[in-house]
Amino acid sequence: MRVLMVAPPGAGKGTQGALIATHFDIPHVATGDLLRDHVARQTELGRRVRGHLEQGELVPDEIVLDMVREAFVSAKAAGSGYVLDGIPRNIEQARATYRIALQLDMTANVALHLQADDDELVRRLLARAALEHRSDDTEDVIRKRLALYHDVTYPIVSWYGQRGILVSVDAMRPLEAVGREILAALEVMHSLVDLIPDEARRTIDLTGLGAAFGSADGSADMTAAVAGSADAAPADAASAKPAAVTDSG
Ligand code: ADP
Repeated sequence: MRVLMVAPPGAGKGTQGALIATHFDIPHVATGDLLRDHVARQTELGRRVRGHLEQGELVPDEIVLDMVREAFVSAKAAGSGYVLDGIPRNIEQARATYRIALQLDMTANVALHLQADDDELVRRLLARAALEHRSDDTEDVIRKRLALYHDVTYPIVSWYGQRGILVSVDAMRPLEAVGREILAALEVMHSLVDLIPDEARRTIDLTGLGAAFGSADGSADMTAAVAGSADAAPADAASAKPAAVTDSG
């Protein structure tokens, strides 16, 4: 299983990334963790990126892309699966990550988009700040990271929609509920990836589901969306439009 995550800070991508990695027994590649580790160890790279992290700015693309290439090579040796957390964060990184993966024949099967409101994200990040003391969890820097997400990261979501690999989930609910929904969706995708080409699949939008996964009044039905994809017009990426993806994440 090859998954990449697109999510605003505080949506829970670290937690869900770890859950996915454990469930599918694949490496969890978290660029933020790798960068913070360099800062903590005071490596040469750590010294270069420290200011960017503290200010809530993106570090230069080539730094994280080198990390991804290295992680992909190790992941390939370990069986080819991965869950990417923290990259891509802009369209250049999205294209470059795709190119690197293509060379290694390991492009993502699923782009998992976690969606949540800014107010809830700020609340969660400030609560985390009290416990973890991450240097970028002050209110000013949090607002800056969120603005950056909306400006440069969120636009890549529709790109994955066009590629037919997008799964959007509502990350406003408790972590366990979100995690269950993600694993259920990924299990379905897992069984389909070898059967249906990416471009023939339709976006799965689970953000309209009620608190109980699969509730009758949900506006999106994963089973129907997936079953429908089998009949979708083949190989026409332009027809695989994302269903109702909104910029609330
Ligand atoms: P969050 O999503 O909560 O901001 P992360 O741990 O993913 O947390 O990232 C923390 C910081 O690491 C970012 O604010 C940024 O400075 C840096 N970073 C992580 N991934 C990337 C990336 N792909 N490109 C540029 N900078 C990155």
